Amino acid sequence: MIIKHREKPVKIAGYEAFLKRLSPNHPKKSAVKNNLNHAKAGYGGEVRLDGALECFDPPYAHLILQDYSLPTPFNIQVDTLVLTQSCVFLLEVKNITGKLQFKQNPSALHPVLADGKIKSYKSPITQMNDATMQMQAFLKTTGCPVPIASIIVIAHPSQIVEDAPHAARVLSAGEVNFYLSEMKLPNPILSIEELHRLGQTFLNAHQDYQSFPLAPKFQIELSEIEPGVFCPRCHLGKMERTKVAWECEICRLISRNAHSEALNDWFMLIKSSINTAECCEFIGLKSLDTAKHFLIKSGCQPVGSRRYRHYIQQQ
Ligand SMILES: [Zn+2]
Repeated sequence: MIIKHREKPVKIAGYEAFLKRLSPNHPKKSAVKNNLNHAKAGYGGEVRLDGALECFDPPYAHLILQDYSLPTPFNIQVDTLVLTQSCVFLLEVKNITGKLQFKQNPSALHPVLADGKIKSYKSPITQMNDATMQMQAFLKTTGCPVPIASIIVIAHPSQIVEDAPHAARVLSAGEVNFYLSEMKLPNPILSIEELHRLGQTFLNAHQDYQSFPLAPKFQIELSEIEPGVFCPRCHLGKMERTKVAWECEICRLISRNAHSEALNDWFMLIKSSINTAECCEFIGLKSLDTAKHFLIKSGCQPVGSRRYRHYIQQQ
């Protein structure tokens, strides 16, 4: 039974907004684009695993949590977690193009691209070992110290994997269902009730990974980010404020709430709060009063005393 479903990662929308607001020749544009491609590929791989586990019906009780993360001090991000009465499975999906070479001493993952170029990523084995240790620490706090097994999932069967260490379990997405279903689990440690209680503890402890704001992570200043309201239809034009609405300078679309997206871009890119002056400047509103009304109407919450008042997005 799935008790937490995967959603499209918000960072994909964040990177897209970032690309839209950086000038075409900005030196960090390609780094943002690489991150976007990486995030899209990662999500694509995870969705592939979800599809492969859609008919998962093993002969043992289980709970699945997709896209699970815990904040500090645990700092865990797991693509898919399977809780059972005897153990916990951590599944980490890799969707990287090219031939994947597992290197050791020191550990790394080297994807070899079609043109022969080699990249280097943190070894998924190291990643899984870290996640296992942190998960052990978290399980200890729950009073259910069940053993943990980790599996590296290769999203596409066409990916060639070389030199995977024998101690590591590396499967293609299509194999996972069969592997887990056929597995003879050790004797149960938890009762069914305890398993469900543990599932609830996991759900309560989950906290979405904080990807935002993006600009400081790329050391990009506010002055380098194009302000204004972009047209939601043609995506090319900037919207101009008329008396009652916004109008696209290119396709002439008229919209009353096109500026909501710009406000969302602010929170994804720049910082988690905004004041009325920043709102006027970034969105192109004419008065502080208009900005205040817009921020309140957009569901933002005022924080701080009058002079230093700023607004944050309501969770
Ligand atoms: Zn337009």
